[in-house]
Amino acid sequence: MAKLENNFTWSPSRHGTFERCKRQYWWNYYGSWGGWEYTSSGETRAAYILKNLHNRWTWAGTVVHDTIEQILRSIQGHATSGALLFEAPDIDVEREVAGVTKRMRANWRESRSGDYHKNPKRHFGLAEHEYEDEVPKEEWARINERAVRGVRDFLESDLFEQIRTSDPTRWLPIEELDQFTFEGTPIWAVLDFAHETPDGKVVIYDWKTGEMKKDQYSMQLGVYALYMEASRGKTSDEVETHLVFLGNEMQVLSLPVTEEDLKATRGVMRASIAAMKNRLKDVEGNRAEREDFPMTEDLSRCEVCAYRRLCGRE
Ligand code: SF4
Repeated sequence: MAKLENNFTWSPSRHGTFERCKRQYWWNYYGSWGGWEYTSSGETRAAYILKNLHNRWTWAGTVVHDTIEQILRSIQGHATSGALLFEAPDIDVEREVAGVTKRMRANWRESRSGDYHKNPKRHFGLAEHEYEDEVPKEEWARINERAVRGVRDFLESDLFEQIRTSDPTRWLPIEELDQFTFEGTPIWAVLDFAHETPDGKVVIYDWKTGEMKKDQYSMQLGVYALYMEASRGKTSDEVETHLVFLGNEMQVLSLPVTEEDLKATRGVMRASIAAMKNRLKDVEGNRAEREDFPMTEDLSRCEVCAYRRLCGRE
């Protein structure tokens, strides 16, 4: 098998990590690179294991995302199973919700066993177990309730009913990682859910399980619109973008992306790519040295960071 190359790419989440802490960015994209190989150094392997850990908040979000993704895929599969006319399958909400709790219990037990040390990609792990953080039982129960509520609210919503009964042949690939090129840099884009209307509009939905921070997400929606422009030749007025907040009170926020927003998004991407490359020792070879990526001075960020042991900030 050909050796994987660490090529420079960009994504909104990479940008978010770079903004949060330069050292965290380095661990994520350089210091942990190759940690999947048995021959990797102790520190690279340790960084790779930590990189793959969830924390209790990201875990709830992942469970909600994965559950919705599986349900949508099953509806899509139903449409291509041979029937001439699409009949939307019924979804058993109670069964799906029970599945969320069952999965979370299994995840939690797997994490506590520490098996992720053997294979962090295959076995689920939580930073709370790695660092032996004291988390009260009630807090774990709240995390589970959050995920259950997110899935239940979604499945009982008018939005889901519209999606469930819509024509799946008009849906775009669900949660598939794809790339487009922006001024020579490959950009990663992965849509939670999108479909094309009969008049050629693309409607994009993004599930959110964290706090409602409208400003933070507008750049991400701008990137989706640029992806639609690059992959399907859609202009900004042919793209509709919606944020769907799940886990607390379900809310759907429709944020149109204008040409002005696209210009601003391009500006952020350009500046972010330049700042990341500026810190590289060798831009061509995408080589980075740890000392050029300082640790954040905001210690509250370290408290929830998986790399705190490697940074000496446990
Ligand atoms: S522990 Fe702190 S300094 Fe180290 S990577 Fe995490 S956030 Fe950055």
